[in-house]
Amino acid sequence: MRFLLSDIDMGEEEARAVADVVRSKWLSIGPRTAEFEAAFAEMMGTKHAVAVSSCTAALHLALKACGIGPGDEVLVPSYTFVASANAILYQGATPVFVDIGGPDDLNLDLSDLEARITPRTSAIIVVHLAGYAADMDRIMALADRHGLAVIEDACHAIGATYELGADPQLTGRKLGTIGAAGCFSFFANKNLVTGEGGMIVTDDDRIAEDARRSRAHGMTKTSWDRAAGRASDYDVVDLGYNYRGTEITAALGLVQLGKLHGANARRKALTRRYEERLADCPSMTLPFTDRIDDAGHHIMPIVLKDARSRTAFREALKARGIQTSVHYPPVHLFTHYRKRCPEQGPLPKTLDVAAREVTLPLHPLLSDADVDTICDEVLSAAGETEVLESQESPGG
Ligand SMILES: *Cc1c(COP(=O)(O)O)cnc(C)c1O
Repeated sequence: MRFLLSDIDMGEEEARAVADVVRSKWLSIGPRTAEFEAAFAEMMGTKHAVAVSSCTAALHLALKACGIGPGDEVLVPSYTFVASANAILYQGATPVFVDIGGPDDLNLDLSDLEARITPRTSAIIVVHLAGYAADMDRIMALADRHGLAVIEDACHAIGATYELGADPQLTGRKLGTIGAAGCFSFFANKNLVTGEGGMIVTDDDRIAEDARRSRAHGMTKTSWDRAAGRASDYDVVDLGYNYRGTEITAALGLVQLGKLHGANARRKALTRRYEERLADCPSMTLPFTDRIDDAGHHIMPIVLKDARSRTAFREALKARGIQTSVHYPPVHLFTHYRKRCPEQGPLPKTLDVAAREVTLPLHPLLSDADVDTICDEVLSAAGETEVLESQESPGG
């Protein structure tokens, strides 16, 4: 492959930080994790940041801390990574899938969101797709009216700022800090990478305390507390999990956090370049092109005009050395969800867009010239693989 879908800016500095941890011989949660949490909370402007082993763990603990359990319905897009919905099932609650805006807006559709609220609805998981803010003004207002907890799956939006808002209380805040809790992933292809890893941010002392205890077996003290002589015994007051991060991931995270702002700015510049080259192409639309807010630019989605051309289009790009992907196969169509949650309302825009979407390479190591080359190839592949009207069957 000439151009990878994603790549990471990681090198000597990270290697040294990890080597320091190895030499310290304290590998599980400890002082570097505390330092990473403090730096993350400062960047986010939240009171708390709790490091965990993944965003999936973060979502699970956020739902648990918000008291979501059996009998509760949780609104979530189907157009997301499966982990956003899996976390709901971990708590024994019921995912209720919500449609998206359409090919121009891959985030939750607000009228569909409202239409799916029932007396059992307890929470909303908001995904800021590709790093672009969902309409948090209206989501928070809706949640307030119906007494729902809002949990932000901000995996794509790390470092992004909410600027759409009419509500001055929300405008200017980091995405992930507007709902009751925000969840982040440091998986190997995200904007901030530690391999595996995640974070919960919140201003709510109770949620933070619950998450801290639940990530470590429900114990009232950590092994670091005990090693540091601060405690010798502990109680288990709640069912907990082992969802801790490690000192190695925290050390990586601290270095990566320092690079985030620059890397996101680079992603933004590359996205603008893609938009300039591709926005007028008649065989595709680019979502979110109306947006000028400070997004996370995690991925570069395009939506082809015709779903029938997708396989050939992706093959043509592959033959040109360009890796592509699809974000996302809708969650409600997966076998497990068809069996477990068969009764879902119609999700026409999710189905339509999911059949036509293709994700192009986007990462901070791409040069402007790389994006120009990719765009040339994308335009040529689109021309080559376009489904012509004459190929359509009579009457259809
Ligand atoms: C990556 C991702 C997750 C899962 O993160 P992990 O850290 O791998 O558990 C959840 N939701 C979205 C939207 C993601 O992109």
